[in-house]
Amino acid sequence: MDANKKEDTYEEVVCRECGKKYGQITESHLRSDNCTGRFEFPKEYEEYHDAPLASQAAKEKMSNG
Ligand SMILES: [Zn+2]
Repeated sequence: MDANKKEDTYEEVVCRECGKKYGQITESHLRSDNCTGRFEFPKEYEEYHDAPLASQAAKEKMSNG
C-alpha cells in the first residue's frame, strides 16, 4: 500500500478495486469503465474484499426508507 491509502469515512467508502470514493458501490459502478470490471455483482466484490458496499451514511438513508 502506498502513502495515499484511502480509508472509509462516514459518508464514503473506498472502492477496493479502483480506489475511488463513493457513497455506495453499485453494480453499475463495478461494471462501468471507471472500475476494473473484475466483478459484475456487488455481492462478489463484498465477499472477495470483505469490504462494505455502502457508507454508514448511505446505510442510514436506506434504513430510513
Ligand atoms: Zn471501483
